[in-house]
Amino acid sequence: MILRLMLLMVSFFEAPLLHAKDWEQRGSSNFIVYYRSPQVPEDFVQTVVDQAEDDLKRVSDNIGITRYQRWGWDKRASIFIYRDQEDYVKNGGQAQWSHGAALLAFKAISTYPSASGFFDTILPHELGHIVLHEYLGPTVYVPLWFDEGVAMYQEKAKQWGAHQVVKKALENGEFIPLTQLMDMRLYKNSKPESVRLFYAEAASAVNFMVTQLGESNFYRFCNELKNRTRFEDALAKIYIRLSNAKDLNKAWVRFLEDQ
Ligand SMILES: [Zn+2]
Repeated sequence: MILRLMLLMVSFFEAPLLHAKDWEQRGSSNFIVYYRSPQVPEDFVQTVVDQAEDDLKRVSDNIGITRYQRWGWDKRASIFIYRDQEDYVKNGGQAQWSHGAALLAFKAISTYPSASGFFDTILPHELGHIVLHEYLGPTVYVPLWFDEGVAMYQEKAKQWGAHQVVKKALENGEFIPLTQLMDMRLYKNSKPESVRLFYAEAASAVNFMVTQLGESNFYRFCNELKNRTRFEDALAKIYIRLSNAKDLNKAWVRFLEDQ
């Protein structure tokens, strides 16, 4: 499961080139699915449409922003389903290790029907990025760990193994404190071990915030971010006992040590 973490990085590559002749499309209330025909089967496309609509409700609920998600017909999100991995990498401009990408500026998800994890992991994860950023607005910055943590929280299994991975990192001295995580970025040449730990920590920290510090506080925290309050100022404003990332780190580590 952890191996898969590195396959889900949000990326900001170019939007897929839209040549109408290359894509068939199918629409629903909130999505337009573009797919390669006949290679991507019709029943798969229909399942993607149905699940994307269901996931949109579930993901919005998870972040506490259901009432803000009125995308409407002209603001539908796009999902591009490439024929296979080769097509996705070559024509979608994606990295070899990637199975899905959220193209935030284009409100689009780019992916291909991979053998496993498509509906449980990839689709909800990428949709998590889109929903969060649609809510926050295009100019609000959040640390990458928070972005990825929120996206992983949308996966069906919610990365429940992440706490144990981070706990192990604490024990063997590899743990990256939140204060350091705040500025951390990932690159194509980042070491796989640090990428894996980064994702595990992101999943664990966001899961801790939502489940241990209160769902309603998390919703209010996201709302502060939307109102352009700086990340650490929003922490201090919403969470009475926390005044910065260092305090959040302390509370999170204490929780992990009790696991
Ligand atoms: Zn991601």
